[in-house]
Amino acid sequence: MTTMTKFKLSNRLQVLPPYLFVEIDRAKKELIAAGKDVISLAIGDPDLPTPDFIVEALKGASADPKNHQYPLDAGLLEFRQAIAQWFQNRFSVKLEVNGEILPLIGSKEGISHFPLAFLNPGDVSLIPDPGYPPYLSGTIFAGGQPYYYPLLEKNNYLPDFNSFDPEVVKKAKILCLCYPNSPTSAMATEEMFKEAIAFSKKNDLILINDMAYSEIAFGNKKPISLLQIPGAKDVGIEFHSLSKTYNMTGWRIAFACGNSELITGLAKIKSNIDSGVFQAIQVAGITALKRGDSFVSENVAIYKKRRDVMMSGLKKLGIECHEPEATFYIWAKVPGKMTSSEFCMKLLKEAYVVVTPGHGFGKHGEGYFRIALTTTEDRIEEAVKRIAKAIS
Ligand SMILES: *Cc1c(COP(=O)(O)O)cnc(C)c1O
Repeated sequence: MTTMTKFKLSNRLQVLPPYLFVEIDRAKKELIAAGKDVISLAIGDPDLPTPDFIVEALKGASADPKNHQYPLDAGLLEFRQAIAQWFQNRFSVKLEVNGEILPLIGSKEGISHFPLAFLNPGDVSLIPDPGYPPYLSGTIFAGGQPYYYPLLEKNNYLPDFNSFDPEVVKKAKILCLCYPNSPTSAMATEEMFKEAIAFSKKNDLILINDMAYSEIAFGNKKPISLLQIPGAKDVGIEFHSLSKTYNMTGWRIAFACGNSELITGLAKIKSNIDSGVFQAIQVAGITALKRGDSFVSENVAIYKKRRDVMMSGLKKLGIECHEPEATFYIWAKVPGKMTSSEFCMKLLKEAYVVVTPGHGFGKHGEGYFRIALTTTEDRIEEAVKRIAKAIS
């Protein structure tokens, strides 16, 4: 490795914290290189494959020359129609096919580009802490200022809008929400969404909800969309993704929906940066949305079993946590007096188990760690055994 001296990274890159998963990956790779049997409960990437019916749809579509050219920026009409139909069935919300839906090359892409369309230098984004890193990087890249609001256990990891600093709110343009939440796995309530909409209207904010985990939920009550709440479309945009729902993280397909001016602004930025989603992948996406329901139920049942195995393990270990109703994460308290980092390093070195330290998602994540249920029940049981030994 040579150190870089000739080309200095831009200030915007230098102010970003190191990307969390890169560091964890490095530590994990070192252990694997040393021949250790490492169990990773760290990364939010499904271990199971994309179902065959979606892969088959891609195969057919990829052979068709009309899919080989630049896609339309707006995405295939048929894909937007399939999104609108799916949204209607799932949330009883009508979306305009022209103007209220925009396909994305993964929702990370859309979330991180969105601030470029609406922030000016110095404008503030209100960002959850702990939270998904692209809310910060998107804000910084647009020249904006992040302001972290805490997600606290005593508030069920929902924002407390009354606690926001009014001086900061005056300068704010964007309010970011993420429900079902990563990393805490909290679910939104209708009441909180109503408050968020009222707060956004009162303070002239754009309201974002990142709903990547909309379909990974275990209870009878499915997660609600922000757009189900009256008035949401006046101020709101929601980011959805096929990644977690259909085990399609590598495919890069997602969509934004909601207020048409917000959709148009994001589309304008994207038309200057990318050229849309490979059309054959959009065709596969149509198949996923139209025919994916029974797959989703089976997939969720797998995560539910894993969750139950891990929850009973954590109980035996005396580790405190809430049973998640959604997402494939468990947000757990670090036992004893260790910091998140110390605890995660201990598990890594003594149990060869990788979990994510909570502070990596923001300072209010300190004292917690995140377990991802993206490995088999057997491996989860094995991980529990090893953790028991390490912390006994
Ligand atoms: C996985 C994830 C996303 C999006 O993933 P894409 O693959 O880019 O669609 C967005 N938000 C959160 C919180 C996630 O965990």
